[in-house]
Amino acid sequence: MEDFSGRKSVKGFSRRNFIKSAVLLPLVATDSAFARESSVKIELLPKPFEYYIKRGRSKGSTVLVVGGIHGNEIGAYKAADMLVDVEIEKGTLIVVPRSNFTSILANQRGYNGDMNRKFKYIPKKDPDYPYVEQLKQLILELRPDVVVSLHDGFGFNRLNKHHWGQCVVIDESRYKNFPLYNIASYVVNEANKEIKNPKWKLDVYNTQTFTSDRHLEQRKALTGWCLTHNIPAFCFEASKQLPTTKDKVKTHLTMLKHIFEIYSVKIKPSLDYLIDEINTYLHPKPTTVKLSVNDRLERVANWKVFKVPRGSHVKILDVNGTRGSFVVPDDINLNLNKLKIKHMLTFHTQIDNSRVFDFRVKVI
Ligand SMILES: [Zn+2]
Repeated sequence: MEDFSGRKSVKGFSRRNFIKSAVLLPLVATDSAFARESSVKIELLPKPFEYYIKRGRSKGSTVLVVGGIHGNEIGAYKAADMLVDVEIEKGTLIVVPRSNFTSILANQRGYNGDMNRKFKYIPKKDPDYPYVEQLKQLILELRPDVVVSLHDGFGFNRLNKHHWGQCVVIDESRYKNFPLYNIASYVVNEANKEIKNPKWKLDVYNTQTFTSDRHLEQRKALTGWCLTHNIPAFCFEASKQLPTTKDKVKTHLTMLKHIFEIYSVKIKPSLDYLIDEINTYLHPKPTTVKLSVNDRLERVANWKVFKVPRGSHVKILDVNGTRGSFVVPDDINLNLNKLKIKHMLTFHTQIDNSRVFDFRVKVI
């Protein structure tokens, strides 16, 4: 069993950037020069591009599961994240549970605009650029046999054909040699046997991305980009209107179970076991934040105020807890990793979109 996990820093936060900003400080940083500084420097953790490559003992197909392209679709990224803990018996599973972590933390569809319209082209200055590019590189390097992008869409597709919830979205019924409709309808039919509520049953939604002009935007989406690079891809959609996160996660895991069957990817424990364990998984571990205040190490696990003199340097070093734990500054652009404050700043410790506790830095 080979299990390689990556939490890579993104390019926007390199050592070079750090040195560059350090050079901006006075050349002779005497104590008195430091004391004259009127603000406090805050340094935050860069948001990781988190991916996991899990190879089984016996060879088989490679399935890549992407969660969280849209940050307000909790069922999608929690379902993907549950796969991170499993072992693989056959085949290879690649999981990118939080492809758009900034938007997850903000609980917005796209904090920097819709990431799922940026796969065909994205300008380098776009804050999403490093994440979109790393996902594309991962796909091009590993060339999975299929890519599954998880979403929580609006409404119920069976009840309204214009709604994107509770369905498997395909770009064409067949694209090149890929029988997208056949695969999608197998997943839908098998999953529907396990979905009791008739209103929640799934359907196949064909957007005819390349043969009609009804959904031109889909050509810029992850699945459209994959297809044009000869990799079959699907969107699995739960519904935003399902009553609980558990229901959304369950819908995703049920669909995944059947695409894993098609591609002969075997995981341990099974998806049925994971479905039974959703509540346990959704129960968070305690979170601790490690930070340095002028190089003095501090730990914080609940509300606390750090009173720091002007000229101080506060750096968030690590967040320990459930995956998806992170620290975000209150009311500050979430793309920023470095800032200066004059009075005070409140930090929210979150697990994905949900707040665990706050702490504050106060300038004295
Ligand atoms: Zn979505």
